[in-house]
Amino acid sequence: MAQILDGRSLAKKIREELKLKVEGLRNKGIIPSLAVILVGDDPSSIVYVNMKRKACEEVGIVSHLFHLPANSTQEEVIELINDLGKREDINGILVQHPLPSHIDELSVFSAIPLNKDVDGLSPLSLGRLAFGRPLFVSCTALGVLELLKHYEIPIEGKDVVVMGRSIIVGKPIAFLLLQNNATVTICHSKTKDIWEKTKRADILVVAIGRAEYVRGEHIKEGAVVIDCGYNRPPEGGRDVGDVHFPSAEKVASFITPVPGGVGPMTIAMLLKNTIKATEESL
Ligand code: NAP
Repeated sequence: MAQILDGRSLAKKIREELKLKVEGLRNKGIIPSLAVILVGDDPSSIVYVNMKRKACEEVGIVSHLFHLPANSTQEEVIELINDLGKREDINGILVQHPLPSHIDELSVFSAIPLNKDVDGLSPLSLGRLAFGRPLFVSCTALGVLELLKHYEIPIEGKDVVVMGRSIIVGKPIAFLLLQNNATVTICHSKTKDIWEKTKRADILVVAIGRAEYVRGEHIKEGAVVIDCGYNRPPEGGRDVGDVHFPSAEKVASFITPVPGGVGPMTIAMLLKNTIKATEESL
């Protein structure tokens, strides 16, 4: 049976450390702050935004929610980002993904200044990551790396397969693990013979948004399995990842559960990045 990569308890430990850091900053009169922009009323996004705000509060980061109506124009969203970019009392800016379909994400993410891009999704941040000189890295990617490092799982020279190539999850994880000297294969919906590839992976990272799609028989014996997926069954019931946990845990050496794996680590990394942005603004 695989050992669990316990993101929930590691994230709790990180949040406790960050809380002390924020206390130190507050004692000097510095209050870290995060602006969260939510456009529209996507129910999952509302849940994620509330989780992020609660986590901020818990460690002493002030969070400001800017909730814009779904019919806001791209120009209105960019104007807000430009204003927040100039404000000295705002250290980090996060635009909740996905944006309504009439808004171009590239244009919006491009407006976030590099020094406040705590979600690491602006083209400048991603470009710096591709250069191997990241400033802020996507929180999910960073969370995955912290988990691997905490459990002392070697990355260098390992064959990593990342399933999923989104700009939010798949690509930043692939770049970050490449920067850590893994040999990375990125798979997507058009990949041929995908299971041949996943069966060769020492570390398999899954971020495809398909409930329990990857099963034990698709995984190499002893592989490390990182499940970034988070799927709410439409008919209700418990949330599941992109990996079928019961069959995968019999084959893997380490595995992240859902919930309690990558999700809490993503939020902890958002807090960490916001504090980093605050410290670097001094
Ligand atoms: P996304 O934008 O929909 O991208 C999904 C990716 O998976 C695409 O690249 C797609 O390929 C690929 N894909 C879909 N079906 C596939 C298949 N059968 N085989 C191989 N590749 C396939 O999703 P996302 O935003 O990256 O999110 C992925 C998952 O991570 C979701 O479950 C989401 O809820 C979760 N997530 C978790 C966190 C966290 O903090 N834990 C954060 C964000 C997202 P194409 O490019 O060819 O379409």
